[in-house]
Amino acid sequence: CGIIGVLGTHEVAPTLVEALKRLEYRGYDSAGIATVNNGVLDRRRAVGKLVNLSDLLVHQPLAGKSGIGHTRWATHGAPTISNAHPHQAGPVAVVHNGIIENFRELREELAGHGVSFITETDTETVALLTHHYMDQGADPATAANQTLDRLEGAFALAFLFSGEDDLMIAARKGSPLAIGHGEGEMYLGSDAIALAPLTNRITYLEEGDRAVLTRTSLVVIDDEGNEVTREKRTIQLDA
Ligand code: GLU
Repeated sequence: CGIIGVLGTHEVAPTLVEALKRLEYRGYDSAGIATVNNGVLDRRRAVGKLVNLSDLLVHQPLAGKSGIGHTRWATHGAPTISNAHPHQAGPVAVVHNGIIENFRELREELAGHGVSFITETDTETVALLTHHYMDQGADPATAANQTLDRLEGAFALAFLFSGEDDLMIAARKGSPLAIGHGEGEMYLGSDAIALAPLTNRITYLEEGDRAVLTRTSLVVIDDEGNEVTREKRTIQLDA
């Protein structure tokens, strides 16, 4: 339901949780974050209020300066820890708003390749498919692109990869996403309100856009596969 992403210069876990709090107004049943720390991808998830995730992070901290976070409003699969985002498959972690309409077909296809499923969600399919393409030799950005080409439905997605401390992939199709520009940092949010304490310099992705983010660069590809320039605006928000 809510998405946040940070390619930062400081420990990112507290920033992710703080941003998720700003998205609480949207409603949610569970929450989670994933980070890349010296190339290692790891995650923490909790059912219920964000305080449960914060408590978990006290006992099991998550280091790293790059991360993604999510508040989930379950559409496919009960609100359990296993079904909470981020979903991870090997070297890829994914957070997702919306619904992947063709996830059952994709699941069957992956099952045909011997891939097994742990959760009841549509989102896990995205992580597993990306992992599958990486197994076949695709680099992270290519694998994410190949996966996005296969997805039907309305969604916003963010991808994070092990071994990639300075890379985040985002896609918008039917569910809004805003990119925030910081000082040597780059942010992603399901709305600009989530990003308000971090920056007021925002690029809104347009319908069908995909984006490749690093700390210092943003490349946006439109729904026809062309690299495009999206306006960077300075917005007014009551932080
Ligand atoms: N369809 C996904 C799920 O049920 C995402 C729901 C959401 O937007 O939070 O896990």
